[in-house]
Amino acid sequence: MSRLKLISIIVLTALVSCALTSAFWFAAFNRGQIAVSGAAVPHPATAAAAPGDGGAPHVAAGGPLVLGPTGLAIPVAGVKTEQLSDTFTQARSGGRVHDAIDIMAPHGTPVVSAAPGTVEKLFFSNGGGGITVYVRAPDQLYTFYYAHLQSYAPGLHEGQVVKQGDPIGLVGSTGNANPAGPHLHFAIHRMAPSEKWYQGQAINPYPLLAGKKPGS
Ligand SMILES: [Zn+2]
Repeated sequence: MSRLKLISIIVLTALVSCALTSAFWFAAFNRGQIAVSGAAVPHPATAAAAPGDGGAPHVAAGGPLVLGPTGLAIPVAGVKTEQLSDTFTQARSGGRVHDAIDIMAPHGTPVVSAAPGTVEKLFFSNGGGGITVYVRAPDQLYTFYYAHLQSYAPGLHEGQVVKQGDPIGLVGSTGNANPAGPHLHFAIHRMAPSEKWYQGQAINPYPLLAGKKPGS
């Protein structure tokens, strides 16, 4: 009887340690997988463009977010870094300068938030940006501007807090955009904390998203 007891204790011990060992390796393997995939994501270098939670990027409707070297996400789903071009200093009608970049994409492509913030203004400008969104960064020092949208993301409203990668709307050609060349007009403005949504100083999104010098 006591021999049987001893054997069952040995068997039980073996089973438990076996289970613990495989649990350990399973967990270690999983951690390794996460570390490997996380290493492929460039880490944010500036607070201005930090992603929402510091963890794995959110997955937008059109695929994984593409993050620039500053941690900003390319705000149109499926667009790669090499598809961006710098039109920040291009002339526009009335002697204006573009002060933004145009990210070309078919009508209806999802537009996602380049960075976290709060929707400060939903604005319609028939002769300008058409259907537009202004998102203010949490530190109030930057505004992200999305224009020529076909429509807003369902339920989008002023005061809404958005994370990086959250839906903003769909690419379109509202306002003064050419319907033959639908695109997202994307601008970043450096703001004084007291400035309103329509103020601020434009800074070039291109190097922040593409990781290249302006114009390159
Ligand atoms: Zn534009």
